[in-house]
Amino acid sequence: MKILRYSLSAIVLFGMILFSACDENNNLVLFSVQNDIDLGAQVAEQINNDPQYVKMARADYPEAYSYLDAMVNEILDKGDVAYREEFVWDVTLLEGDVLNAFATPGGYIYVYTGLIKYLDNADDLAGVIGHEIAHADLRHTSRNLQKQYGVQILLSIILGENASQLATIAGQIAGSVAGLSFSREFESESDARAVEYNANTIYACDGVKNFFQKLEDSGQTGGTPEFLSTHPSPDTRIADIVAKAQALSCDTDLLANSGYADFQASLP
Ligand SMILES: [Zn+2]
Repeated sequence: MKILRYSLSAIVLFGMILFSACDENNNLVLFSVQNDIDLGAQVAEQINNDPQYVKMARADYPEAYSYLDAMVNEILDKGDVAYREEFVWDVTLLEGDVLNAFATPGGYIYVYTGLIKYLDNADDLAGVIGHEIAHADLRHTSRNLQKQYGVQILLSIILGENASQLATIAGQIAGSVAGLSFSREFESESDARAVEYNANTIYACDGVKNFFQKLEDSGQTGGTPEFLSTHPSPDTRIADIVAKAQALSCDTDLLANSGYADFQASLP
């Protein structure tokens, strides 16, 4: 009977969720916004304790953080971010010669110094950050978990019957950047959303394409940071981003006097 009762309650709950779980972006997400926040906090704590991630302390690099915070806040405040108020939107610099940035559920963003030094303009970095904000805001990890773990396990987590499973998932996400890799559909969705966000900012709206352009120009498309994942190809992504910017008729001029070179020079 216990099994039957559980199944019935699961079916009733699932029915309720189907009616109520379309989120701010009109996606069906079983996880609540609070589940995203809780999972993100757990992932951030694990990243904080994991020596493979060399975190740059805010106290040691106040100028670099003030530059980066200003950029993140420009996008968050003007970019029409659905979960602007609910998520933490905390950004951390990671030291290392890695061409990558990533974001957890709930809005913890991580940017490698290697990526910042590789890019040429503030607009290019703003594009990548807009892309990462979009992954969190569009709740891509929670939507992935639905596919990976299935409704039954997620329901048991949501019902509070399986707290250890949530910790396990957080560990898997924190353990490798692959835990935050996304499908072609989600990458394209984040690229498009980055253009939409940045259309309202001081930055070029299509800055996210410049990273792919630079990789293509230097023949370096073999690496696989998550936003570089081979599908869709950099060519396709550049073309889609250009088309999106044209559809929005948004400003593609680079920001003058952005101070980006000084920002780069302030990094270890
Ligand atoms: Zn991405």
